[in-house]
Amino acid sequence: MITGHLPAGYLATNLILKRLKMPVSRAWLFFGMLAAILPDFDLIYFVFQGNNEFGHRYYFSHKPFIYLALLVVLYIVYLFNKKAWFKTALIVFFVNVFLHFILDSYFVGISWLWPYNNKLFGLVELNYQLGGRGMAYFHHWYFGVEVLLWLLAGALVLKNKFKK
Ligand SMILES: [Zn+2]
Repeated sequence: MITGHLPAGYLATNLILKRLKMPVSRAWLFFGMLAAILPDFDLIYFVFQGNNEFGHRYYFSHKPFIYLALLVVLYIVYLFNKKAWFKTALIVFFVNVFLHFILDSYFVGISWLWPYNNKLFGLVELNYQLGGRGMAYFHHWYFGVEVLLWLLAGALVLKNKFKK
């Protein structure tokens, strides 16, 4: 997934806040969308380090285990300090991060079993080494999923706007 993480984060954060019966505020939406694209911040490093041999999916920011460990630590912090906003922050953050990994698991994959195993688990490994990944990708139905996410998020933005 290339750009679809952002609208996916918008949709997911809306759903989470509604489920938690919280007002859908801009601050929470921003926080949720930031979490949804956070693992891809490694692309900045990837572009500048100049080594294309391994994909950025191998970086620490794309390791579910790191986030699970962080979740355990933060959950323990929460148990000692049960603030409602903190609970919302944990749910919004981790649901969005793991949604990112689920969406990345279709193409190329995610190293779900790291540190036990560094292998990327993905359903389609198409063209990753062929250099033609970009072009082939735009003709794949999964790119349609990205377009659909943008359309759904756009519709929800309009719906939220007119409700006020
Ligand atoms: Zn990613």
